Amino acid sequence: MTERAAKRSSSPHDTTAPCKVGRPSTSGGQSRIQRASTSVAPKEKVCVFSPCRYEGEEDLHMVSTYNRGKLLINIQQKTTDDRIRTCLSSLHEPGDAHAQEKWYHSSCLQLALRTIPDDSPSRSELELRRRISDVQLIMYVDSCLQEDGLISMTDVNDVYASILRETNLTEPKVRGGI
Ligand SMILES: [Zn+2]
Repeated sequence: MTERAAKRSSSPHDTTAPCKVGRPSTSGGQSRIQRASTSVAPKEKVCVFSPCRYEGEEDLHMVSTYNRGKLLINIQQKTTDDRIRTCLSSLHEPGDAHAQEKWYHSSCLQLALRTIPDDSPSRSELELRRRISDVQLIMYVDSCLQEDGLISMTDVNDVYASILRETNLTEPKVRGGI
């Protein structure tokens, strides 16, 4: 019988078979000690901007997202209010606020945001820069055509990119359609 023959060949009593395969380790999976993550005592539930006028009046929110942590870092770096900067001085990375279990009042966050000076160019300013860039490009194209009547679209693209860099505008993705 072939079945019996197969059984015999794989008999566990066959001592001539090399014993290369080691036994699966039973202790390997538990070699790492897992540290208890609850060893840190919960922080006191106080507004990060404390002392503040909303204590006991408004609900506190915990910083639970990366973006909110990033916002706090942004406030800490740009605020003109020394007191607010000091309140946030323990934060160095967006994840810190969550790791340190920071709480805040929405009103306090709004007030803190208002202490950041608005140095970004206004929409009309951007529009003006864009028009200046366009005029410069048209002048460039004009001069090329007047000189030899030829123009390379690659050059136009490069020139426009450099004009935009000079005016601190980013290169539009679709313009030119090359
Ligand atoms: Zn507060």
